[in-house]
Amino acid sequence: MEIRAPRGTYDILPSQSVKWQYIEKILRETAAGFGYREIRTPMFEHTELFERGVGDTTDIVTKEMYSFLDKSSRSLTLRPEGTASCARALIENRIYSGVLPVKWYYTGPMFRYDRPQTGRYRQFHQFGVEVFGSHSPYVDGEVILLLIRMLEKLGLQDCELHLNSVGCPVCRETYRQKLVSFIEPRTAQLCDDCRTRYDKNPLRVLDCKERTCQAAVQGFPHIIDSLCNDCANHYGVVKASLTEMGVAYVEDHNLVRGLDYYTNTAFEVHIPSIGTQSAVGGGGRYDGLVSACGGPATPGIGFALGLERVLLAMDRHPVREWPDLGLDVLLVVLDENLTVNAMHLLDRLRVADIRADRDYNGRSMKAQLKFADKLGARMVVLMGEDEVERGVLPGRSMDTGQQQEVPQEDLIALIKRILA
Ligand SMILES: [Zn+2]
Ligand SMILES: [Zn+2]
Repeated sequence: MEIRAPRGTYDILPSQSVKWQYIEKILRETAAGFGYREIRTPMFEHTELFERGVGDTTDIVTKEMYSFLDKSSRSLTLRPEGTASCARALIENRIYSGVLPVKWYYTGPMFRYDRPQTGRYRQFHQFGVEVFGSHSPYVDGEVILLLIRMLEKLGLQDCELHLNSVGCPVCRETYRQKLVSFIEPRTAQLCDDCRTRYDKNPLRVLDCKERTCQAAVQGFPHIIDSLCNDCANHYGVVKASLTEMGVAYVEDHNLVRGLDYYTNTAFEVHIPSIGTQSAVGGGGRYDGLVSACGGPATPGIGFALGLERVLLAMDRHPVREWPDLGLDVLLVVLDENLTVNAMHLLDRLRVADIRADRDYNGRSMKAQLKFADKLGARMVVLMGEDEVERGVLPGRSMDTGQQQEVPQEDLIALIKRILA
């Protein structure tokens, strides 16, 4: 029986991996330009980290984690997201006692046991950033600006920024009570999940994707009307700094992150043209996260971009040609006796950073030219006994068909001229 990739996973073949390399390059460069440095954390962590750092009432932790016991009976989990690992690394490496804030970015696969659908997989990829060690609302503004600039650089102009503030533990408690009394008479209309959790965590009802729940909470009180002075000021500065930088946003009162360590700013970026699951990225401030993970109280903020969604949006609206990772030169060898000459010539080209290859399967000259075309080679160099004896080599551009014969030692210069 043929073995297939597990449900919710997929191969990124070379025709697609060029796109991934391109996207990752733009994202890395943009983040570096904003002062971020890369952090690489393990693909799996102690399960407890995600229970604490993602929250043991979230769908991610209760339903979607790939957890397993290793051979020493430790409970480990394939990371479902990147922020908890960053917080753990900040604490474990005592980064919090160094120069703050620290700005980190990460990229790589994440794992969630979710129902696979368009743009959603069980192994999926994120690019995320985290800033630890500043409560300044201007940091929030800059983090959001980074997200917008990244999408612009990828050619995604039609994105919509949703913004909200979830306050601090103090003003959120006031709001929680208000919301619970609002929901109480409507519980009959809620889905099972919401009915059991509205009391403990009513903010998550606002976030519920079930239509009945959304209808039930129509007219709900907005959290921004319950913010304390500090939180209202913080939110005001974030909005003003976005406006100052020309970043448009819509206030989204449903955008809540119900966990205690999320504070103040919450945001999401949507690209409506990719369909109902239009969010490509989101994040927010989490001033309580580091202490929830066992470290000293350290403010933080970050976001993660879903790269599958980004790619989907880019494919729907091709605004640029994907970069060519083809071949510069196919060396067409016309006689098997020239194998050693061909080995040396290929090596010289490659050492000179010319992407070069040859046929190894005994194709005829005509078939080698076809092969060059299939590989997307921009040039062919013809090597026959006659040419080798005379110490010359003809190079031919695949675009123009123009052919030029040069002394062997001038070949690299000729190739560079033609490729330029
Ligand atoms: Zn507050
Ligand atoms: Zn619900």
